[in-house]
Amino acid sequence: MTRQTRDLVDTLVLAHRILVNEGVLDAFGHASVRDPDRPDVFWLGRALPPSRLGASDVLAFDLDSSPLEKTDTAIYSERFIHSEIYRARPDVHAVCHHHAPSLMPFCVGQLELSAVSQTGAFLGSKVTLWDSTDEFGPTRMLIDDPRQAASLARALDTQSLVLMRGHGTVVVGRSIEDMVFKAVYACRDADAYRAAAAFGAASPLSPAEIALCGEPGVPAIQRGWEHWTATLATHGDTIKSERVR
Ligand SMILES: [Zn+2]
Repeated sequence: MTRQTRDLVDTLVLAHRILVNEGVLDAFGHASVRDPDRPDVFWLGRALPPSRLGASDVLAFDLDSSPLEKTDTAIYSERFIHSEIYRARPDVHAVCHHHAPSLMPFCVGQLELSAVSQTGAFLGSKVTLWDSTDEFGPTRMLIDDPRQAASLARALDTQSLVLMRGHGTVVVGRSIEDMVFKAVYACRDADAYRAAAAFGAASPLSPAEIALCGEPGVPAIQRGWEHWTATLATHGDTIKSERVR
């Protein structure tokens, strides 16, 4: 493992801590990062609660979701989500699958998720809700085979986020820090939208406003990362903030 890869794995572990702290991950869910030197390899933890993950628990996988080194340890059955998205999206360098309560109402109800604020503009006018029954009929509501994962990657298309009916969410980023920003602010936007919709006053951003806001820039992502690592520190953690790549 190169020094750059080791740093990325450390950042991935930190991202799990942040995502737990921010209510995105709980006992379930996982995040990964593409290897910087081998685009057909990604790093993902073994099957642990995200809060328990350490750097030594992170394993390298190929794009068939097979571990590069033989292992007897339990690995996530839903790792195909990561491999099929990395296969379909060369621009994606980090992936997170989660079941955050902020987004679950949009996975089980009639309300469509739209961007309602500047920090959530990356969501666009309508987030796609992927329904596994369309192609696969009744399932166990787990993406534990590559065919379902490839279908999900097609539904994600060029977006940053896709919702999964009766299941959860996948969010992707150009970096770990970008993915964390989008994971957190998708939840914030969803919370605002639901709260406003409850009294009939939700007013999503217009397509023109969404286009003007664009993707989150590095300064915004850096500010978020500094805040979230500082918040971890106040909870007794000793992790230091790092510069966003
Ligand atoms: Zn899941």
